[in-house]
Amino acid sequence: MFVGVCHCDFCQKRTGSVFQVGAYYDKDQPIEIRGEAKSYNGLEVDGVGPVGGGSATYHFCPTCGSTVYWEGSRFLAVAVGNFVDPDFPAPTRETLTRLRHRWVQPVPGAEQFEDFPSDL
Ligand SMILES: [Zn+2]
Repeated sequence: MFVGVCHCDFCQKRTGSVFQVGAYYDKDQPIEIRGEAKSYNGLEVDGVGPVGGGSATYHFCPTCGSTVYWEGSRFLAVAVGNFVDPDFPAPTRETLTRLRHRWVQPVPGAEQFEDFPSDL
């Protein structure tokens, strides 16, 4: 569907970085998932979830702890860093830009959303 950057507080905390980058796929398309993953939904632990009240379940590598992918009701997103591909398409949208760290520049040409768009 798109490559997105999220600057929300939840993504900052769960990644330990100042934003996350994900490749978002429509859940209706065929997606093959192999290997083991542990699951986490922030709401299960401390009640802190994604801004906007959305809910997603995060799946991470049981060996290194890195988030590999996450899913909401309509999408499955893969953390772009897992591709280790400098030619991966650039993000086309940024969400929660009001929480973007001041030194981080907007991605040229990417749609900017101060909050979460309603289509996720
Ligand atoms: Zn986020």
